Amino acid sequence: MTAPDFLPFARPQIDSATIEAVGRVLASGWITAGPKVLEFEARLSDFFGGRPVRAFANGTASMEVALRLAGVGPGDEVITTPLTWVATANVIVAVGALPVFVEIDPRTRNIDLAAAAAAITPRTKALMPVFLAGLPVDMDGLYELAHRHGLRVVEDAAQAIDSRWNGRPIGAFGDLVSFSFQANKNITCAEGGCLVVNTADEARRSERLRLQGVVRSGSDGMDVEEPGGKSNLTDINAVIGLHQLEGLQAVTRRRAELAEMYFAAGQRAGLESLGIELPLRSSASGPMTNWHMFQVLLPEARLRGGRGAAMEDLRAAGIGTGVHYPAVHLFTFYRSQGWRPGMLPHAERVGRSILTLPLYPSLREEDIERVCTRLALVCQSLLR
Ligand SMILES: *Cc1c(COP(=O)(O)O)cnc(C)c1O
Repeated sequence: MTAPDFLPFARPQIDSATIEAVGRVLASGWITAGPKVLEFEARLSDFFGGRPVRAFANGTASMEVALRLAGVGPGDEVITTPLTWVATANVIVAVGALPVFVEIDPRTRNIDLAAAAAAITPRTKALMPVFLAGLPVDMDGLYELAHRHGLRVVEDAAQAIDSRWNGRPIGAFGDLVSFSFQANKNITCAEGGCLVVNTADEARRSERLRLQGVVRSGSDGMDVEEPGGKSNLTDINAVIGLHQLEGLQAVTRRRAELAEMYFAAGQRAGLESLGIELPLRSSASGPMTNWHMFQVLLPEARLRGGRGAAMEDLRAAGIGTGVHYPAVHLFTFYRSQGWRPGMLPHAERVGRSILTLPLYPSLREEDIERVCTRLALVCQSLLR
């Protein structure tokens, strides 16, 4: 008998046409930002209903540029969620502003908009929601709150490509919307990102901020009015993204099928009776997730060795899992800004107990059965 395949929690899917297209770019004599980036931006703009889009080297850079476009700087506060990849908070710090973490809704695991409303002060400049695992927040409520207080919105939609709100893709409406095409995301450029903006002016300023602030004129003129960074995408990465974008619909459909298989297999394995919480199911109206991740909450306080022991036992059984994410406000740097354990109990509990299970298009139904059966066994054996 051979051991079953190791199942990672995520796995990029790159076909041979993509590999050949990357080879053609490498052989073309033009390998950095060029025609493939322009084509990628055009296809993304089509997807987002014609809104202007600019590509970036990664989603962190596109979020930082979004904050600059929103006029966020020293002395400003940005309200966000602690249950995110730390990039969200780090870019707020990078532009000199203060991240204000508020509580999450433990069912959606996203920012609680009532808590966000309660945290608004005269210094608040922007709201920065994150769509964890691809699940949008209440977008009507979000923009109603922003408009009522004259706030900009920077959506960290890094995980939310092809997620929908009342049938419309995230990014096709709203204020500044940032996506990531890092290797684990639903579509990837290996590394990459993009920013959806409102106007041609914002698009031009995005171009300047992603390349040193340089403005060219005539055949030899160059000027810088506002220094920028260096975060352009390359044609090598863009051509990967172009191929991935063509497969996006199929990827989203497959992920939804796999999520349904998880709910069914999870029920057969009795996960909920072991105290394991499953993610929220999407409905046809309102928020529709792209199932970027399938995440459960473990009864970690009742497990000998906690979540770490469960992860080790799963790994030994050939099942890779991930933690997305520990609550950001408890990291040493953010504690130095005054954040303490106990301030955001829902986020802290979810951060301690959340576990990402394998989910990617080539996963099979029998793999999901195996993950759920083993997860139940592991928790049973560790429960005190
Ligand atoms: C991936 C991710 C980012 C950052 O994207 P990079 O492309 O890795 O810079 C930001 N926020 C969230 C929620 C992410 O998942």
